[in-house]
Amino acid sequence: MAEDGTARQVVLDDMPTPAKDADLEPRWARISERLKAEVGEVEYRTWLKQITLGPLEEDELVLYLPTRFLRDWVRGQYGDRLQQLWFSETGAIRRVELQVQRGRPAPVAEQLVAAPDEIAAAEELAPQPPAPDTRNDLAAPLDPRFTFDSFVVGKPNEFAYACARRVAEKPSSPGFNPLFLYGGVGLGKTHLMHAIGSELTRGGRVSVAYMSAEKFMYRFIAAIRSQSTMEFKEQLRSVDVLMIDDLQFLIGKDNTQEEFFHTFNALVDAGRQIVVSADKSPSDLSGLEDRLRTRLGCGMVADIHATTFELRISILEAKAQASGVQVPAKVLEFLAHKITSNVRELEGALNRLIAHANLFNRPVTLESTQEVLHDILKAHDRRVTIEEIQRKVAEHWNIRLTDMSSARRARAVARPRQVAMFLAKQLTSRSLPEIGRKFGNRDHTTVMHAVSRVAELMERDTAFAEDVELLRRMLES
Ligand code: ADP
Ligand code: MG
Repeated sequence: MAEDGTARQVVLDDMPTPAKDADLEPRWARISERLKAEVGEVEYRTWLKQITLGPLEEDELVLYLPTRFLRDWVRGQYGDRLQQLWFSETGAIRRVELQVQRGRPAPVAEQLVAAPDEIAAAEELAPQPPAPDTRNDLAAPLDPRFTFDSFVVGKPNEFAYACARRVAEKPSSPGFNPLFLYGGVGLGKTHLMHAIGSELTRGGRVSVAYMSAEKFMYRFIAAIRSQSTMEFKEQLRSVDVLMIDDLQFLIGKDNTQEEFFHTFNALVDAGRQIVVSADKSPSDLSGLEDRLRTRLGCGMVADIHATTFELRISILEAKAQASGVQVPAKVLEFLAHKITSNVRELEGALNRLIAHANLFNRPVTLESTQEVLHDILKAHDRRVTIEEIQRKVAEHWNIRLTDMSSARRARAVARPRQVAMFLAKQLTSRSLPEIGRKFGNRDHTTVMHAVSRVAELMERDTAFAEDVELLRRMLES
């Protein structure tokens, strides 16, 4: 909290000026104007105008919204921007926290229904999209790059892939309706949904509506606003396949959930196919109404697991090949080791390499990769230490930490030691001799042998491979 009431402090140029509560109003007015200019009058009135200033606590400013629904939406769409704008107003505010404050005016969707002249005024100011009158307008377009052919299949995603294929071949089969795909960000959920959609619409006979849960919500609110909920419902219920992406964003939005639930039931009862994605399984999606959760879980639930090294390599190979740029295997391996978070980031890194190679007409090498991806790699530097690896591995196989550097050669300790060496090579930037030294001054050839031995075993023994993968993931997180 800013110290108040005392004589003006002398502040150095590069020190943030302490923000006083009294300064907040004019700053907020400026930020609001700025936002209005950025997002347009209608968006502004619908969402941002509902925000009111809350208290400033140290470097965190609280902003209030009247409902959870609005809070989630504003946080998702404008959270980062709000934070940036506040920070650029005053360096003393580093974080913006959006909270629900009950008893505030009703959300604008309801207000607007009550005051149509206001809507008209607002809508005149912003260019209006044409009225949605066909089925296709309802849905977002499908990305033609996201096909089954361009989806690389591996252990972590083979089940989800098979389910998606099955639905694309035979929609509305019992047991596969709804298809619920879930997994972390950037692992291919949207890709699979688009692939289903493209496959089904290819023949031209099946109508598919794909949209994000946010879009669904937005359209629903817009329909309430323009008093056209009947049309909206009819449009939705006339499709053969409805796909809703990122359902987690529907959480806590009661009347939208309600609407989705009814649409869902109507479609399933009419023998139409539903495909839904989310970041968690139905049972783990908190904030979902129980009856909806039950409905979502009663078809096929397929999860996409985090990528493995092998899958990352296959994806990189496929994408490198499609680009026509020669990327050495060493570089692909390097990327697959370094960027483990998700496919989107992996793809982003590779795309940047390829763009660079094309632009400067230079071959891709390990050196150029490190240079071009400097910032990305730094962010992904896991900074796992060899000691940490040894500790985790020893714990996992229940051996003593000292055995990591002891001379004992019994299988029960030698194998975990090899795994620790393998992980040290994968997860740190230490050289083989350096790793050897940390394992009781072993020779670098011993480390090399351990690395190839573990890789070989992982190929042959899936249970062992899973153990190693699990350890790797624990160490990375
Ligand atoms: P999600 O919806 O799960 O967050 P996306 O489907 O948007 O993830 O995938 C992110 C990016 O990674 C997309 O460009 C997608 O094509 C790509 N991608 C993900 N998984 C695969 C895969 N198995 N094969 C090829 N590309 C993939
Ligand atoms: Mg997605």
